[in-house]
Amino acid sequence: MSTKPNPPQPEPSLDSAPYWESLKQGTFAIQRCTACHQWQFPMLGACRHCGGTLALQPLSGKGTIYSFIVNHRAAAPGFEDLLPYAVALVSPDEAPKLHIPGRIVGIAHEDVAIGQRVTAEIVDHPGGEWKVPVFRAGPT
Ligand SMILES: [Zn+2]
Repeated sequence: MSTKPNPPQPEPSLDSAPYWESLKQGTFAIQRCTACHQWQFPMLGACRHCGGTLALQPLSGKGTIYSFIVNHRAAAPGFEDLLPYAVALVSPDEAPKLHIPGRIVGIAHEDVAIGQRVTAEIVDHPGGEWKVPVFRAGPT
């Protein structure tokens, strides 16, 4: 049995549970208002713009790095083997005003840059049954 520590696990709320369940099914989807069609992240109970009903809608996964940090020390247990690694806020092509956090993969941390194109991938989150999005750098 491994003694490697596990990272904190997602704790879905009533509002975010459908998001986490869709990731488990391999779909990267966020909320979109059925009335005003604005995209929304993170998950809420109603549209922040008009109060309308929200529904999950898949994203293409393509986006641009809005900002990022490089972790040189473990910010959370379970990812020590990956250090140093970049965590970015990514603006999806469909919703460029939103910023979705995720680890950057497929590129050396020193080569990560604001404005870089990325594509979402869904990976297993260590220590449980959950899956999370990461973002692969490269042409999209
Ligand atoms: Zn709305």
